[in-house]
Amino acid sequence: MLRAIYPGSFDPVTLGHMDIIKRSSKIVDELIVGVLKNNAKTPLFSVEERVRMLREATKELKNVKVVEFEGLLVDFAKAMDAKVVIRGLRAITDFEYELQMTQTNHKLEPDVETLFLTTSIEYSFLSSTTVKEVATFGGDITQFVPKVVVKAIEEKMK
Ligand code: ADP
Repeated sequence: MLRAIYPGSFDPVTLGHMDIIKRSSKIVDELIVGVLKNNAKTPLFSVEERVRMLREATKELKNVKVVEFEGLLVDFAKAMDAKVVIRGLRAITDFEYELQMTQTNHKLEPDVETLFLTTSIEYSFLSSTTVKEVATFGGDITQFVPKVVVKAIEEKMK
């Protein structure tokens, strides 16, 4: 049984994240979306809100679970008995940071491997930060995020 973790802040989840979730859930037996609690940056949405939105957005995907975590990713992977970490790569700008993190994680826990999926081209420009910026200025974000997020951002911006 292959269990994988897809970790991130998901503040909020975008259609780019959803693309990686859907594609990786077809490759592994069980996918755990790990929602990072202790963020250096102050998130727009609390971890509870981010988890709730992800659960709603992934409810049709039967082998996907959403779990919050804090601390080291490799410790979370071990606790969940997951041997694989999935990350998404959008552009070369993601690469340097992802490489550093992956190699550090591999030193900490050689049994956990990181696999990268490259983004589908239509989402390669998309980030949670851009979505928040567009929403702040009243722009339409319906083509960037799941429905549940559109509603939640509207509420936040009120
Ligand atoms: P972080 O873990 O840096 O806080 P995010 O929560 O934004 O990042 O994203 C989690 C993971 O999803 C990362 O691997 C990131 O590269 C990937 N990702 C983010 N946006 C997209 C996208 N539009 N397409 C594919 N992958 C993405």
